[in-house]
Amino acid sequence: MPLTRSRTPKFCCRVSPSRRLFTSCQTLAFLFSLTIAAMPSNAEVRVLRGFTLIDGTGAAAVPNSAMIVDGGRISWVGSVSGLKVPAGAEVVDLAGRFVMPGMIDLHGHIGITSGMTLDTKSYSRETVEHDLKMYASYGVTTMLSLGLDKDPIFEIRDQQRTSRPAMARVYTAGQGFVYKDGIGGGISFPGIPSAIFSTVADVEPAVAEQARKHVDFIKFWTDDNMGKAKRMPLDICKAIIDSAHKHGIRVIAHVFYLEDAKRLADYGIDGLAHIVRDQPVDQELIASMKRHQTWQIASTLSRELSLFVFAKTPEFLSDPFFMRSVSGDTIKTLSSPEYQAKTAADPNLEKYRQTLATGKKNLKALADGGVRYGMGTDTGVPGRFQGYFDHLELQEMVEAGLTPMQVIVAATKSGAEFLKAPDLGTLRKGKWADLIVLTKNPLDDIRNTQTIQSVYVAGNPIYTKGTSK
Ligand SMILES: [Zn+2]
Repeated sequence: MPLTRSRTPKFCCRVSPSRRLFTSCQTLAFLFSLTIAAMPSNAEVRVLRGFTLIDGTGAAAVPNSAMIVDGGRISWVGSVSGLKVPAGAEVVDLAGRFVMPGMIDLHGHIGITSGMTLDTKSYSRETVEHDLKMYASYGVTTMLSLGLDKDPIFEIRDQQRTSRPAMARVYTAGQGFVYKDGIGGGISFPGIPSAIFSTVADVEPAVAEQARKHVDFIKFWTDDNMGKAKRMPLDICKAIIDSAHKHGIRVIAHVFYLEDAKRLADYGIDGLAHIVRDQPVDQELIASMKRHQTWQIASTLSRELSLFVFAKTPEFLSDPFFMRSVSGDTIKTLSSPEYQAKTAADPNLEKYRQTLATGKKNLKALADGGVRYGMGTDTGVPGRFQGYFDHLELQEMVEAGLTPMQVIVAATKSGAEFLKAPDLGTLRKGKWADLIVLTKNPLDDIRNTQTIQSVYVAGNPIYTKGTSK
């Protein structure tokens, strides 16, 4: 297949003619090692060439592009005609391919699900890294874990930030906050050590504890699970936002209702982790979000889909792109009449279809209204599959009325901007080479993001189709 690799000679050019007389295997090996020592950076240089570049900025795609990656970062990007291949560089020929930035999922969960079972007890470095590799293998090279983490996350994150990870980069909201009669955190996911609030007085110590752990964000839930629980009182929500901001930490909330979204935006919340789903958004919300620079960080449309799609056998159950990461047992469960009957028996099934439709309209309205938005899925809990559902999310966003380019920018550049991660999100000089190689153009059809040939994180190929990597 067209993925060909070649190496420019590492040492021949460095061997003077007189010394050629003395070449033997040993001498060559010695010279080779000297050359490596003399050119440490070139040992790390990789050139990708011949592809169409979609750089994540929203700029038009550029055919016949090339890129030099040095030490994991992009040191040059431009036209093949201007490429000067550095000596010693590995050259990867990507003629006919499309290269876009790795995606950023601003709402995921990690380490708590095994197959179709919630398993918060097993949370560990192993389960977290397993899931971060899963995301990365689907082209999600950065994710924000929203509020269901245990403390091993902080060491994993900190190690990543001083190295070149071979998995998705992780940002974390640590342990999110819930209301005693509400949903989310340790109430909905037993075993997760969330702070559970009864009054405003509970807020400050809990925020201070998360601040001591250096969380990237504070997360809280306010929702009533379709009337079955109580929303967090607004005075507690406001106290969380004010306290976190005093600690210099931005705040993200799980919301469902328009009314809550409006009040939280008025209080200066930084991000909404789900789209409003009870009714159409209005100008008042849009104006408040813009005034307070509140982001719609995630629409989680694929989450709404997941609530009813398994009432029948969805088409994707036989999609090799789905099946490559899902166990036979999980497919069997999802295909079983018992499981499908149980899903279909949910009295809110029809409501979930409506909430998806409302969510789509609201995403389009917010985008048209000028609210900043990213891409997020709420994957990583049973039935919401990390990686695969990210691609479904892109498709739902396009069905909502966004263009493939808008969706790609949301999932790349915008995600990095929300995270304040200037080295991520676009394929420009100086950025980390976190990227996806596709065989078909995602601007022609967003479903082409599924044609992944390989994924790179920090310049290293961490997934290649058809290999175990
Ligand atoms: Zn979530």
